[in-house]
Amino acid sequence: MIPSVYLVKGREKSLHRRHPWIFSRGIARIEGTPALGETVDVFDTQGKWLARGAFSPHSQIRVRVWTFEQEDINVAFFIKRLTQAHALREHLALRDDLTAYRFIASESDGLPGITIDRYEDYFVCQLLSAGAEAQKENLLEALKTLYPNCSIYERSDVSVRKKEGLKERTGVLFGDTPPASLIIKEHGIKMGVDIVHGHKTGFYLDQRDSRHAAMKYLSQKRVLNCFSYTGAFGLYALKAEAKEVHNIDVSELAQNMAKSNTQMNGFDLSKAHFIQADVFKLLREYREKGERFDVVIMDPPKFAESKSQLQGACRGYKDINMLAMQILNPGGILLTYSCSGLMDSALFQKIIADAAVDAHRSVQFIERFQQAADHPVDTAYPEGFYLKGFACYVK
Ligand code: SAH
Repeated sequence: MIPSVYLVKGREKSLHRRHPWIFSRGIARIEGTPALGETVDVFDTQGKWLARGAFSPHSQIRVRVWTFEQEDINVAFFIKRLTQAHALREHLALRDDLTAYRFIASESDGLPGITIDRYEDYFVCQLLSAGAEAQKENLLEALKTLYPNCSIYERSDVSVRKKEGLKERTGVLFGDTPPASLIIKEHGIKMGVDIVHGHKTGFYLDQRDSRHAAMKYLSQKRVLNCFSYTGAFGLYALKAEAKEVHNIDVSELAQNMAKSNTQMNGFDLSKAHFIQADVFKLLREYREKGERFDVVIMDPPKFAESKSQLQGACRGYKDINMLAMQILNPGGILLTYSCSGLMDSALFQKIIADAAVDAHRSVQFIERFQQAADHPVDTAYPEGFYLKGFACYVK
């Protein structure tokens, strides 16, 4: 018997719109005693069947919906979902000359709590919810069935697992151990990815479309690439024939990879600079010393992990964007991004406006950006929009 979850009256509305979350306060009663991650059926007050999902006893999001159809959650179900996701990625891989992409974008691909990034034939999984963890074997079986030659690595070293009552976990799940630097390609540019030690699953795939869009601003420019990680924006800058690019990141490991990525693509190393430093400090030094750039790229890590951190995050975003504006030559371009999902596009726009006031510069928004197309947003799940950015003309 599948345990049954009955909703509080009125709480079925979001499910009719196919939003996949049921909060604890939306549940009136439960029949049966579902275990961590177990599949449950969801009913409205009239006893009408609505959906089938995974039970998360420790999370405020008590149920995450797997399906709105009466189907079993088994290997065949995961094969269906993976096949649906593959169609979009196959198109993008051809269109953008990619060998790496987000293959499963959790809720937006109908698989709540599951993220899978593909790097060549390595699939890197993050299982973020109790349901995802409970379905691990079915998911792995489905992947192996569709991609018998693949290797599967787990990077579930994310703190959100705690809220779900799960421990962090990493390691090989199937096939080979990933190499220290796996070479992937996007828009024809080669890049090394360290799946085991890199950030997230190894690489910031979500900024690919923004990196490509940035190219039109970079030709013959003196470019500052802040928070450069393994140098991806800097590589696009060199491909776009920037005059020079200065990559700043605190991580020595990231800077070493950025350097080897630059060499591997045959770009002129004399045009690329790699500076291991804190962006907040170095930009202040540049401002005082009169160091100026034509383009500043500002792609910081997530400043707000929770609502309580949002205010501090706003100050951080305002500060670095103000500094960026102050070190731009007149007529310069600021390419600025925020990957904090808690900060929506309107709030980010306001922060940039506040930064312009503090910088005493007149600034115009000239283009908008969002996460790359392999990180789609389902219409039923607007929370999926987390990455936003602007190109600004700084007079
Ligand atoms: N733009 C990159 C992704 C940036 S991720 C890309 O396209 O791939 C954020 C980076 O910021 C990480 O590499 C991290 O090491 C770096 N970082 C975090 N805090 C920093 C700080 N205060 N100063 C400089 N770099 C920082």
